[in-house]
Amino acid sequence: MQPISPEIIFRGTDAWGKALPHISRLTKRPLILGRSLQTSNLRNKLSEDLKSQSLSVFSSELHYDCCVEDLSRLSNFILNNKCDSIIAAGGGKVLDSGKYLADSISVPCITVPLSASTCAGWTALSNIYTRNGQFIKDVSLRSCPKMLVFDHEFIKTAPSRTLSSGIADALAKWYESSLTSSNINDGLVQQAIQISRVLRDQLLINGENAFKTQFEKSLSWSNTIEACGLTAGLIGGIGGEKCRTAAAHAIHNGITQIISPKKFLHGEIVGVGILLQLKLEEMKNDNKLANQSIKQLLELMIKLNLPTSLSDLGINLFENNNLEKIAEFTCRPESEIRFLPFEISKKDIIDVIIRFEKQKIKK
Ligand SMILES: [Zn+2]
Repeated sequence: MQPISPEIIFRGTDAWGKALPHISRLTKRPLILGRSLQTSNLRNKLSEDLKSQSLSVFSSELHYDCCVEDLSRLSNFILNNKCDSIIAAGGGKVLDSGKYLADSISVPCITVPLSASTCAGWTALSNIYTRNGQFIKDVSLRSCPKMLVFDHEFIKTAPSRTLSSGIADALAKWYESSLTSSNINDGLVQQAIQISRVLRDQLLINGENAFKTQFEKSLSWSNTIEACGLTAGLIGGIGGEKCRTAAAHAIHNGITQIISPKKFLHGEIVGVGILLQLKLEEMKNDNKLANQSIKQLLELMIKLNLPTSLSDLGINLFENNNLEKIAEFTCRPESEIRFLPFEISKKDIIDVIIRFEKQKIKK
């Protein structure tokens, strides 16, 4: 079984308005799930709109992350209130939590991304973290969300940092899938890889302009948010498991093990992971084009205000065994790093980080 896409998708301006009558046919007692204070007005609006459709609406929030503590508390809340659907309205952590809960309780999930920071509104996957945001594992779900509502007016209100993060996460699709899956003979996987190449090209062309023109809602902005929130999810859907992640996400998972005072978004960390993956390819796989790709990516990432190294992520390389901790987690037996077509050791991870930081200091 391969869940490919949400059953119903509403996209564009007023996607929410168009979705409302369909939602009211699907559910009578929805739970609206969110997290940040910043989106509470928007979530109140969703709640009012649903009440005007004569639904009994419940609301709850994540206290920490998509973590066991929050998930078990919310699961009890849903069962006690006999909620018959979950409307997850927020960023990746909220969407992942909503999907996970809906899957485990067997109720439909409606995802309403409130930023373009990830493709979590689309996929049949949830990443589970500790309450402090340390990655634990990803869980494959039985299906993609029942409905995805990708309303451009909502996405427009998100901080521009979320768009940069989404761009970095979507760029990873090409760098990871082309490395791990180009020898797979499955036609769908090959097509997914080619979509990810077009996606990367479009992001390299439109990304900067999209970032600058969020509030004017330019064509490059709307194409870019859909690339991050929809196309990246579609690639994961048709490409399946092998077309998803490699070193960039494995390194992301390792980096999240270090708790730094400033919180970074998923794609912001994945972006650093892509740069390190390319450096690994140069060191271990004799990829002569890797350095050129690094330069090309760095140029865009700087324009998007994205972090480009571990020190930008607030991590001191030489404190508390940080490097060893990252390398240890990145190279654990179940890590996606094993999908690489070449062997990687903990020492390689430590070497690549140090080389990359030194190169950056020289510039
Ligand atoms: Zn990701």
